[in-house]
Amino acid sequence: MKANCWYGKNDVRVENVPDPQILNPRDAIVKITSSAICGSDLHLYDGYVPTMEKGDILGHEFMGEVVELGSAVKNLKVGDRVVVPFPIACGNCFFCQKKMFSLCENSNPNAALAEEMWGHSPAGIYGYSHLLGGYAGGQAQYARVAYADVNPIKVPEGMPDDQVLFLSDILPTGYMAAEQCDIEPGDTVAIWGCGPVGQFAIKSAYLLGAERVIAIDRFPERLKMAEEKAGAVTLNYERVDVYDALEEMTGGRGPDRCIDAVGMEAHAHGLAGAYDRVKQAAMLETDRPIVLRQAIMSCRNGGTVSVPGVYGGFLDKVPFGAIMNRSLTIKTGQTHVQRYMRPLLERIQKGEIDSTFVITHHMKLDEAPHGYEIFKNKEDNCVKIVLKP
Ligand code: NAD
Ligand code: ZN
Ligand code: ZN
Repeated sequence: MKANCWYGKNDVRVENVPDPQILNPRDAIVKITSSAICGSDLHLYDGYVPTMEKGDILGHEFMGEVVELGSAVKNLKVGDRVVVPFPIACGNCFFCQKKMFSLCENSNPNAALAEEMWGHSPAGIYGYSHLLGGYAGGQAQYARVAYADVNPIKVPEGMPDDQVLFLSDILPTGYMAAEQCDIEPGDTVAIWGCGPVGQFAIKSAYLLGAERVIAIDRFPERLKMAEEKAGAVTLNYERVDVYDALEEMTGGRGPDRCIDAVGMEAHAHGLAGAYDRVKQAAMLETDRPIVLRQAIMSCRNGGTVSVPGVYGGFLDKVPFGAIMNRSLTIKTGQTHVQRYMRPLLERIQKGEIDSTFVITHHMKLDEAPHGYEIFKNKEDNCVKIVLKP
């Protein structure tokens, strides 16, 4: 089959690789019909994640048709259309029982690597380095889906791929980012980053009762989408001082809830390797525009800072004194996607969310290298690319 493979910084290649096989009775093989490129893939493309190996298959946002089933998978049949959540969960362990699926204890065969980095290991993730399990990803014609009896969600008849694909990651991610803010009536929510995750965080904040959402970015087409499609008021961080503007817009108090939908690139530009201990030490010396710091400093007393943006290693100059003295709550995590797939599917069916508005490009799998380039550089008004293997 064909697959989009990682070869190094700014280097991905579509190659012929062996087809995936059933390895475990709870596996399924899915023939992929749609597979998206994510901001999280850019951390790999930017070379920030150290445990990638040349030839690793990328992609963690995918859906398709079941073509083969392990003997223990009784709830699916060949021919079913399914969306696959990006964190791999066993459904039975301590964390799966608590619905904290992205912390599953049974899905990262390389947990020891992750423990060395983070103290404990989170769940395995498709196409996301050997640190997170070394699973082949879904930017390919076929993928092996682990624990297929508990992870994929069946797509109801008549719903096109574009409407449900983002249940695999970014729709639940935007939603969880807003949900963990515990939004109260009248709240103003500020969101850094108008990428796909930021766009869904804006939508979700309104669904969860925010009175006003202020979205921050620098790319005009992304700001326009945030205004026109998601309904936010916007700030261009190259034109205004974000902290001052937010103060002014909130009567000097600051936004009630702040969401960092950007992640580590905003902090680590020019530093090759947020996971690398020496480089991490170097990061302590930088003084770049720091999204997370800005979110913490801007947030009103007693407010919540929610961080869906992905971070790898240490982070420079986090103002912990502000967090402590001003009673801030910080919430973060890889999204517990499985928790949100069913309720968000229902919201899509009811017409409360149309997640297709973020899609700016459909491409053939062969065009993935070009897709990565324009998505990274925000060229051609690119916000979200769906690959069609
Ligand atoms: P993206 O790269 O398309 O969007 C990031 C946006 O942030 C860009 O539009 C960029 O211009 C903007 N930005 C950069 N610096 C900024 C600054 N100083 N102030 C304001 N905006 C700034 O990525 P995406 O797909 O939207 O993903 C966003 C983040 O969410 C990434 O870190 C990604 O890894 C993460 N993510 C997390 C999860 C999770 O489970 N927690 C899931 C999916 C994605
Ligand atoms: Zn993703
Ligand atoms: Zn589990």
